[in-house]
Amino acid sequence: MIEVKGLSKRFGQLQALNDVSFTVEKGQIVGFLGANGAGKTTTMDILCGCIGADAGSAIIAGHDITEQPIEAKKRLGYLPDVPPLHLEMTVDDFVSYAAKLHQVPINALNTRVNDTLQRLALTDVRHRLVGNLSKGYRQRVALAQAIVHDPEVLVLDEPTEGLDPAQIVQIRELIRSLGGKHTILLSSHILSEVQNTCDRIVIINKGRIVTQGTYDELTRDLSQGKVFRLRVARSVNDALTRVKGMSGIVHARIEDDHGADAIEFGLEKSASENAPEDVVRAVMDGGFGFRELRQKTKSLEEVFFQVTK
Ligand code: ATP
Repeated sequence: MIEVKGLSKRFGQLQALNDVSFTVEKGQIVGFLGANGAGKTTTMDILCGCIGADAGSAIIAGHDITEQPIEAKKRLGYLPDVPPLHLEMTVDDFVSYAAKLHQVPINALNTRVNDTLQRLALTDVRHRLVGNLSKGYRQRVALAQAIVHDPEVLVLDEPTEGLDPAQIVQIRELIRSLGGKHTILLSSHILSEVQNTCDRIVIINKGRIVTQGTYDELTRDLSQGKVFRLRVARSVNDALTRVKGMSGIVHARIEDDHGADAIEFGLEKSASENAPEDVVRAVMDGGFGFRELRQKTKSLEEVFFQVTK
């Protein structure tokens, strides 16, 4: 489990983090989203004990990263923004070195290294120098050093950065396979990646957490009770006039992009819970032939732009 409570960090005049709090439950994968400069790397660097916070605390698997750094770091794997690679070492040597740094017992070392190389499809390049590998392979080596000691908690700063589409799919699957057993916080700019990989999403903007929840909660919450698509069997223009005249309706229009039988309507925020049912009843009573009523939700992209603008 990761618990971040009230983190604040200032760089000179710049308040990079302001009272940042969130939790990643055991076994969950949480996506950390934010525009460039929002504070993702700063948060992750504090979480992993690379830099100190001005206020607040970060707890890794029950151990405070400032008060019990050794216990916390034993349970932590970190893929930083700029991976700590030794370009002059072979892949094999580097991953073994990382395993030793993470105190993997000597009798388990070879097995752990072999398993990790296999998991990341690095076995074929194990004898090559890290510095001679392509960017995508280097990123996999960086990921290998983060998982080689089988840590309970993984913090991954843009793990698919620089990878080609096939590798992105592979790494995404790997991360998904690590979820459940491992607790994972990953940052990304790729909204579809977060949507497909993560159980929950935390969005940060200008150093503050602006929203968090599951994908469904985020896309539903911001549009709840607001916008609906209504389909009728006949006389769509008359049906539109009828809906427009009802109380609690903010707007109503023919939805051109969904065929001529669809009406989009928005409800006032204070509209009664029964308002959508009232619309359906009015459509049926008016003889327009009710076909479908569906609440329209926002995409993660729309949510992101709404909360970070
Ligand atoms: P990106 O997606 O571009 O990596 P980010 O969300 O990870 O962005 P951070 O790297 O955490 O953002 O930076 C947050 C803010 O803090 C930025 O304005 C950045 O310039 C500033 N910052 C980060 N580290 C330092 C530092 N060591 N000294 C001064 N300013 C810093």
